[in-house]
Amino acid sequence: YSPDENSPVIGVLEKIREEVAGLSGGRVADYIPELAHADPGAFGIAAVSAHGRSYCVGDTGHAFTVQSISKPFVYAIAVEQLGLDVVHEHVGAEPSGEPFNAISLDERGRPENPMINAGAIVTTSLVESAAPAKRFERIRSVLSEFAGRELEVDEDVYRSETETGHRNRALGYLSLAGGVLVGSVEDAVQDYFRQCALSVTVRDLAVMAATLAVGGVNPVTGDRVVSQRTARHTLSIMSSCGMYDRAGEWGLRVGIPAKSGVSGGILAAAPGAFGVGVFSPPLDEAGNSVRGVAALERLSDDYDLHMLQMP
Ligand code: GLN
Repeated sequence: YSPDENSPVIGVLEKIREEVAGLSGGRVADYIPELAHADPGAFGIAAVSAHGRSYCVGDTGHAFTVQSISKPFVYAIAVEQLGLDVVHEHVGAEPSGEPFNAISLDERGRPENPMINAGAIVTTSLVESAAPAKRFERIRSVLSEFAGRELEVDEDVYRSETETGHRNRALGYLSLAGGVLVGSVEDAVQDYFRQCALSVTVRDLAVMAATLAVGGVNPVTGDRVVSQRTARHTLSIMSSCGMYDRAGEWGLRVGIPAKSGVSGGILAAAPGAFGVGVFSPPLDEAGNSVRGVAALERLSDDYDLHMLQMP
């Protein structure tokens, strides 16, 4: 791939990066012990256009684990395989207004939405594959198609989360008791931990986002990954539920369907325009990257990327 180094877009991203780099505050997540080793100063931004052009500034080669940013993509796999109605017999579509690890189940026993842990573990349990043992391989391969390259698991982060992720196991058991998780809780949670531990760069996030933003075709490889309908459903759920208990504030100030993760990544998909990835590990109270949120606020403003912007 050839990044477009002389484009004015690079200038805009550089300016935003410089302005936002000075922001302090936030804390690196450490409840997954391995994540505590992250460099709090690492900061990169990447954008990929609807035509597949890449623009990258800052620490763009830096690898980190995708964490919750895997959730919309696994949701897309489940919707593609089972259809929207079947998926939503198992998981709701309402913003929870609660933290990502909340015990958030609706009156029917379904997790509130597929972007919080409880709902994401259920979504993972729904993914079908030729053999149950191959389910994670299916997830890894589709996320790789979204990114346009083979993604691999960071085994240290995976091990660290599987040794400590008992709250996620508890959420899985509540969903099993509610009759919405399919198969074994431990199998679902293991595959969920593996999907969260897939290693990416900001450019990978930007390509994944761009694939959703253009309706399911990876603009870099030219391959269709999911249907246009599935891409739209995924963007819808990201726009209502992608930023946890800050989804409303995000809609007001940024207005781009997005998903954040505890390692400090944010993926944002501006329909028809750009896919963006930002990485900076210190998180705010809601678990969203402090610099990532600020950078996307500015980008949305500077480029009129808010989805309710009048043409
Ligand atoms: N693997 C993390 C967890 O389940 C993902 C959470 C996140 O990124 N918000 O706790």
